[in-house]
Amino acid sequence: MIPTVREVGLYIHVPFCRSRCHFCAFTLQIYRDDRAAAYLASLQREIALYAEQNPFGGRPLTSVYFGGGTPTTLRPDRLADIFAHIRNAFPVRRDAEITLEAHPETVTAEGLGLLVRAGFNRISFGIQSMDEHELIRVGRRSSLGTARRAVEAARLAGFTNINLDLMYGLPGQTVESWLATLLETLSLLPTHISCYALTIEEGTSLNVARHRGEVVEPDEERQNRMEDAAQEVLAGAGYVRYELSNYARPGFACRHNLLYWTDGEYLGLGPSAQSYLNDYRFGNVENLNTYHRLLEAGRIPVEAIERLSPRQRLREAIVFGLRLIEGIDQDLLKQDADHPSVTEAVGRLLEEALLESRAGRIRLTERGRRVADSIAVELI
Ligand code: SF4
Repeated sequence: MIPTVREVGLYIHVPFCRSRCHFCAFTLQIYRDDRAAAYLASLQREIALYAEQNPFGGRPLTSVYFGGGTPTTLRPDRLADIFAHIRNAFPVRRDAEITLEAHPETVTAEGLGLLVRAGFNRISFGIQSMDEHELIRVGRRSSLGTARRAVEAARLAGFTNINLDLMYGLPGQTVESWLATLLETLSLLPTHISCYALTIEEGTSLNVARHRGEVVEPDEERQNRMEDAAQEVLAGAGYVRYELSNYARPGFACRHNLLYWTDGEYLGLGPSAQSYLNDYRFGNVENLNTYHRLLEAGRIPVEAIERLSPRQRLREAIVFGLRLIEGIDQDLLKQDADHPSVTEAVGRLLEEALLESRAGRIRLTERGRRVADSIAVELI
């Protein structure tokens, strides 16, 4: 059943990076000190405006997630300062998961120590690949040595919960080089590993290179083999695949991201941040100047707001829940009784063996996982 009292998290979007990776389609700006100072002033205004509204109805935050962009383009003392503002503005559970996304090139031992003391207890490094040539081809400046040093420094600083993000299907990547990346990653003993399939999106340098014939679309069959290899190698090393792209040691699934897949609630602050709260989905303006202007005028910088009907909420709970390997409680479908369109679609997908029903749960089959996005479109 959809729970009535839900866990709630906070997402902080930091829209800066040092440079743009060739596959990245996010809205972001290249880091500059003056831009960071203006962003921090606006973010503090946004936190203060929400604090006046008691948006969580007294519920304490179970997670805070600093994502981007690259949050660690900001100085550690500035990140600590934002988190201090959050703690002053909202109740935060003592055992809350506080995650910081980081680029290996933007951290120092001293800065990591300061972040741990400030209360950050989970760090997520964007590694993507352990092969330097693959990284150069997608415009990443990091190297294997940098990644290793950053992870070791984070552990020494006191981070015991460390995620490493990887990508497969990169230009020039082979199944063998992907396996080498997985093994290198395992040697760093992270608690969590995310493996994302590369897609070439509009508006990226990779897309321009594809049109020029300089790179080709990732080969689907090879990407499938890479996905299978990841599942096998990571399972063999004790990591549980709990979501389509996410693997964790027992007890280390990302609590913040679980909110997205279990109908939990979250408030997003910062330009382009998305929220889901009290049955409303809403998103902040993307443009940084508009973000500043609205907050200077004392206004919450929201531009798109939609109230979900109970049926929409149910559909979304099913679609997002099916991203979890354990799937959804099949009792969820009982709530569809008056308008059985989702139940009918689920029935069709069960017949086609894209979904399966086991021990009271409905989940994607292995074949279904390959076409998870089309299944989501069919169900939404
Ligand atoms: S570091 Fe991440 S957010 Fe920044 S450009 Fe690269 S992929 Fe995009």
